Amino acid sequence: MRLFRSLLLLLLLLGTYALWQGAIEIPERWNPWAPLDVREDPVPLVTGWKLDRLRADDTLCRQALETSQLAYTPVADSEPQPGCPLNDSLRISAAGETDFNSSFVATCPLAVALALYERHSLQPAARETFGQEVSQITHLGSYACRNINNREDGRRSEHASANALDIAAFTLADGRHIEVEADWPHEDDAEDNAAARFLTRAHDGACDVFRVTLGPAHNQAHANHFHLDMGTYSACR
Ligand SMILES: [Zn+2]
Repeated sequence: MRLFRSLLLLLLLLGTYALWQGAIEIPERWNPWAPLDVREDPVPLVTGWKLDRLRADDTLCRQALETSQLAYTPVADSEPQPGCPLNDSLRISAAGETDFNSSFVATCPLAVALALYERHSLQPAARETFGQEVSQITHLGSYACRNINNREDGRRSEHASANALDIAAFTLADGRHIEVEADWPHEDDAEDNAAARFLTRAHDGACDVFRVTLGPAHNQAHANHFHLDMGTYSACR
């Protein structure tokens, strides 16, 4: 058993080495060392690994960003509020055909995650649930110089570096408005509710991409929005 395990480990190492050296060719989207391309369908684990890498490497992140349909402008490094500097940030105004209620600043990893999410998760959920796309995302902000839950003794929130976005609602192409606060599923929901199903998918899909996704099921503070961030912690609630 021990020998078998050692052999397996050796094979795995050799395979990894061959892959890294380019001796084995696999499609780029399966190759964990290839830069992330937002247009390609995500591959479980591989896409997560690529996102992890670009969180630590701004050049890699910018490369991935170039493959997205985000409309953005660079933001010069600054410190709009004392103690909460903005570094390597962008101002995002649209994701392809989808616009936002207002533009917002974001770190590059947050921007890439959002682009992946909009394309591969949010729009498919809208198409399959309503037969139409989301045309606008309503957010409550990304940058705020504060600690988690506004506690004085707490850890800095990811919002303090524009590494988090709070999403409150989605508007469909026909103008229908779906709000986290009003449409999130409740236990006493009488019948199958398309908006509730859509929000559940929108929440669960976010968990596949963002490091942290918190919604109404987490606590009262998130009753009216999804908190999405690209920090070091990992949570899906
Ligand atoms: Zn938040």
